[in-house]
Amino acid sequence: MTDENPDQPTEVIGRIPQPGGPADPARPGEHGVRQEDHGRGGDDHGHSSAGLRPVAEQLARVLDGIGTVDPIQLTLLDAQGLLLAEQIVADRPLPGFDNSAMDGYAVRAVDLREASEAKPVVLPVVGDVVAGARSVSGMGPGLAMRIMTGAPIPPGADAVVPLEDTDRGVARVAINRSVRSGECVRRAGEDLAAGAVALGPGAAIGPQQIALLAATGHDRVMVRPRPRVVVISTGSELVDVGKTPGFGEVSDANSYMLAAAARDAGADAYRVGIIPDDHAKLLDVLDSQLLRADMIITSGGVSMGAFDVVKEALSQLGTVEFTRVAMQPGMPQGFGYLGRDRTPIFCLPGNPVSALVSFEVFVRPAIRKLLGKRNVQRQTLQAISLERIQSPQGRRQYRRGLLHREPDGRYSVSIVGGHGSHLIAAMAASNCLVVIEEDVTEVVPGSRVTVLPLMLAQR
Ligand code: AMP
Ligand code: MG
Repeated sequence: MTDENPDQPTEVIGRIPQPGGPADPARPGEHGVRQEDHGRGGDDHGHSSAGLRPVAEQLARVLDGIGTVDPIQLTLLDAQGLLLAEQIVADRPLPGFDNSAMDGYAVRAVDLREASEAKPVVLPVVGDVVAGARSVSGMGPGLAMRIMTGAPIPPGADAVVPLEDTDRGVARVAINRSVRSGECVRRAGEDLAAGAVALGPGAAIGPQQIALLAATGHDRVMVRPRPRVVVISTGSELVDVGKTPGFGEVSDANSYMLAAAARDAGADAYRVGIIPDDHAKLLDVLDSQLLRADMIITSGGVSMGAFDVVKEALSQLGTVEFTRVAMQPGMPQGFGYLGRDRTPIFCLPGNPVSALVSFEVFVRPAIRKLLGKRNVQRQTLQAISLERIQSPQGRRQYRRGLLHREPDGRYSVSIVGGHGSHLIAAMAASNCLVVIEEDVTEVVPGSRVTVLPLMLAQR
């Protein structure tokens, strides 16, 4: 699966028609009931969809403001997985000289016109040509030279007879068949001519491209480097993973999770760790991180609470916008820019599931854009839902799912865990997100849903 494929989420089918839509008086209080079902409080429940910004609009705003990182020169292996930012021209042909495709005998095809199994032609062998031979003497008519794969074709020869079609003679060789002129000869420049474009800007550098760069003598190339993404967890309840949490304390899962997700998206991630709910400390750390960051991600502190410090501190700066997005989970979102270089910052909600879903929906595409990728979205799949799924009208829901491949090759998906955006174990048991579009309130078993597979690293 590759990000270079177009990603057009297709429509969810099998939806149950909504009689009269959301305002249907026959279904009063529908949303209230649903919200109570889903749990309460936190960052993603108990709100009507009125006044929420659509996911697509928020994503468009985010991507609008994201450029690409400036190119740098890297050695070949460091360039692996990145996109080329220059045109590479071959200053030499590939192959560099006419050479043998087989172990055998260099010959002139005309000398073997009459050769057959019944009447082999016998030629004197006047020398050996090995791979790496720096010079090769010419070969006159009626003669043969023993030659190895990759060795230069002696001037005068125009074909190679493979060993298998000969008696493998040393002083003289008996040849069982005729050959075409040019047979078993790899021509100089037949792969790539000198002066031809080897790779263009935007080419993805994988093992094959690295082979071509090495073969054409390029040991360093200009590429769009991995963006440096700084990850910060906020919350006075948080303790680092090495410490046993006391009463009321919570192990910081998000900075590790988001650093891993950022690396999976192709970034170099720097985990700064935990900042308590304290304005001055937050602004201090952000200030010091701006120097190295191409992007900053925070988690926590963006809801409506009295101690939601990220929102309080950063909305005052005027360059970071806090909005409510029509999605579940992950409704509160902050995005904007900090510092002189206008470094993009994402302020994600603190519940781990909300943070990861928000990362998938907004941050991952932004990292892919920084890398210079054309298609920044993950490729989605269509799968048969094995379950009935309820979803609030007007909000795009992302449920954790388990994607299976059926024996007939089709995909099916089941839901893992409940709605709660604190359910880390259920998230760890999932391998995909099931996407329920805004206008779908129920998916019936057997109908198709859009799935965002998460299990494939795409560095
Ligand atoms: P907040 O968004 O700061 O209101 O946090 C929402 C919930 O997520 C609270 O229960 C937090 O304790 C929890 N939470 C916040 N940050 C983290 C984190 N880094 N790791 C694990 N849980 C977190
Ligand atoms: Mg908090």
